[in-house]
Amino acid sequence: MFENLTTRLGTVLDSIRGQGRLTEDQINAATRELRMALLEADVALPVVKEFIERIKVRAIGVEITQSLTPGQQFLRVVQQELTQTLGGVAEPINLRAQPPAVILMAGLQGAGKTTTTGKLALFLKEREKKTVIVVSADVYRPAAIEQLRIVAGNVGVEWFPSEVGQNPIAIAEAALAHARKTYADVLIVDTAGRTTVNEDMMKEITALHGALNPVETLFVVDSMTGQDAAKTAKAFADVLPLTGVVLTKVDGDSRGGAALSVRQVTGKPIKFMGMGEKSDKLEIFHPDRIATRILG
Ligand code: GDP
Repeated sequence: MFENLTTRLGTVLDSIRGQGRLTEDQINAATRELRMALLEADVALPVVKEFIERIKVRAIGVEITQSLTPGQQFLRVVQQELTQTLGGVAEPINLRAQPPAVILMAGLQGAGKTTTTGKLALFLKEREKKTVIVVSADVYRPAAIEQLRIVAGNVGVEWFPSEVGQNPIAIAEAALAHARKTYADVLIVDTAGRTTVNEDMMKEITALHGALNPVETLFVVDSMTGQDAAKTAKAFADVLPLTGVVLTKVDGDSRGGAALSVRQVTGKPIKFMGMGEKSDKLEIFHPDRIATRILG
C-alpha cells in the first residue's frame, strides 16, 4: 500500500535526513518535492496546498534546539502533519445508542459495502462481543441480497431476509422491529449503490436514514479511486449526516491519495480500512500508524 507516496517522500526526506542545519532554500526544495509526491499520489489539490503550507510554516520556524537536527525535525513535522491530515487520532465505532445500535452503510456500487458489512459484523461479534443482525435494502440486485446472505453465514451472524421488489424503507423497519424484539445489539443495514452519484440513490438513502435513525452512517469508498473518492465522499456528506468513512481496497492502493484527501475534504473520520477481500481483513484506522507506514 501507499508505495508511490512512500517512495517519493522517502527520496525527499533522504536528501535532508542527515542535514545538520536546514536553509530556507532546502526547505523550499523539499516542500516542492513533497507537493509533487502528493499530487502524484492523487491527493486533492486543496488538500496538498494546505498541507504544504502547514509544513512550511512549521519547518521554517524549526529551531536547532533539543537533541534533534533540523533535518530530523523536518521529518517529524511531516510525520505530525500527515497524522493530522489523516484525522489525528483513531475514532472508534460508536455504539452508544438504545439497542439495537443501527449502522447504515452508504456508498457507490462496487465500493465494497456488502463485503464491509460482513467484515464489520465479524469485528463487532468477535471484538465487541455483540449480537449482530445484517439486512440488505438493495432491492435492485438479487445478487446483492444473496451475497449478504452468504457473507452473514460465513461470519456467523443473523441475516434478516429481504427481496427484490420490496420497499427499502419497509425492509429497514421490519429488520429494526425484529432486532428490537430479539434484543440484538447491532443492526447493520446494507444499501443499494449506483455506479455514480445520482438523485434517486440519495433520496433513498436519506429516507432510510430518517426511518432508522442510525448511530453510525458509514460511507464506504474504494481507495483506489484516488481523488474521486474524496469527491464522492463530499457528495454524500453534503446530503447525509455521515459519521465516518470506511476506506476499502487499501491493500491494492499503491498511491495512497484517497486516505489523505477524504478526511480533509469531508471532515469525517476514517474509522476502518479494508485490507483484502476476506471477512477478517478490516483494520481500525490509526492516523499515526498510517503516517508512519507512509513515511516507510
Ligand atoms: P458493493 O457493491 O459496494 O456492495 O461492493 P462489494 O462488497 O460487492 O465489493 C466489490 C468488490 O470489491 C468485491 O469483489 C470485493 O471482494 C472487493 N473488495 C471489497 N473490499 C475489499 C478490500 O478491502 N480489498 C480488496 N482487495 N477487495 C475488496
